[in-house]
Amino acid sequence: MKIGVIGTGMVGATSAYALIMRGIGREIVLVDKNRERAEAEAADILHAVPFVKPMLIRAGEYEDLQAARVIVLAAGVNQKPGESRTALLRRNAEIFADVVPRAIRHAPEAIFIVATNPVDILTYQAAAVAAQSGIARHRVIGTGTALDTARFRSILGRRLQVDSNHVHANVLGEHGDSEVLAWSSASIAGLPLETIAQLQQVELGLEQREQVDDAVRNAAYHIIEGKGSTYYGVGGAISSMVDAIIHNRRAIFTVSSLTAQVGPIHDVTLSLPRIVGGGGILGTLKTPLNEPEQQLLQQSAAKIREGIEALGA
Ligand code: NAD
Repeated sequence: MKIGVIGTGMVGATSAYALIMRGIGREIVLVDKNRERAEAEAADILHAVPFVKPMLIRAGEYEDLQAARVIVLAAGVNQKPGESRTALLRRNAEIFADVVPRAIRHAPEAIFIVATNPVDILTYQAAAVAAQSGIARHRVIGTGTALDTARFRSILGRRLQVDSNHVHANVLGEHGDSEVLAWSSASIAGLPLETIAQLQQVELGLEQREQVDDAVRNAAYHIIEGKGSTYYGVGGAISSMVDAIIHNRRAIFTVSSLTAQVGPIHDVTLSLPRIVGGGGILGTLKTPLNEPEQQLLQQSAAKIREGIEALGA
């Protein structure tokens, strides 16, 4: 099973490394406009292979993506300290205008995972280009809030002293400042968070929830301030999505996909809990949200829609 990664900077290379360490797929091809960088990442990651399952990894060109099952799109320029994701839009949209048609031309059967920011808007752009080649929208997946959901779960898990794998809590909407933490439907082992907090003798009142919200919403800004960019979390998310696709796992991720309607907003790419398997996005789950969360989700959808319109899409 061949997996292509286009853009082998920190996010692309970390995704490839995560795939290798988890033994997902059989062959990984790294494509970057900076061929030297792709060669160097491929060589570095190759040297980890003797410690894990045998896999092939190499640098290549678009032609080498032929028959790839999944293509990860991580080409772009990165967020600078203090820069909002939307400020990146123009620069990365230009890169996508070059990269996406070429990827589709060489791997028309692939499922495409978009990671580049602002991911919701670029997922819209990629889905629009893909549609021109007859590729259905469920085959274009934006990583969206998969990372934010992971942040929410890991922070809640640590506070409530349970394994974050067993925390069911989602972040919806935009991968960005307007994201919505769906507190009202969050649970652990089928129990509401209040019950778990009581059992664990942990405070989880309004003040503590605000702290969690801030830690999740501003995680990227803090990490970027400390080390320039974020990549491990998203690399973990991407490797899990590739795994779900190639093994048709029907796993649930909060990922971004073209959505017909969110309240009064039409035709918008945003994250909702979705079933991911061999064909890409196989379904969307309707999360019960309380009234304020619904309002926030609509505002988040409106913000993404503005970005889509700014792109002229
Ligand atoms: P990076 O600068 O380390 O790497 C980007 C790579 O893209 C570089 O190697 C560059 O040469 C390559 N590139 C640029 N233009 C290209 C083109 N036309 N064709 C092929 N390759 C090209 O950046 P990074 O840290 O890897 O981040 C990549 C993107 O992922 C950014 O937009 C970043 O904001 C985003 N990101 C997304 C998430 C998420 O959750 N979706 C998380 C972290 C970062």
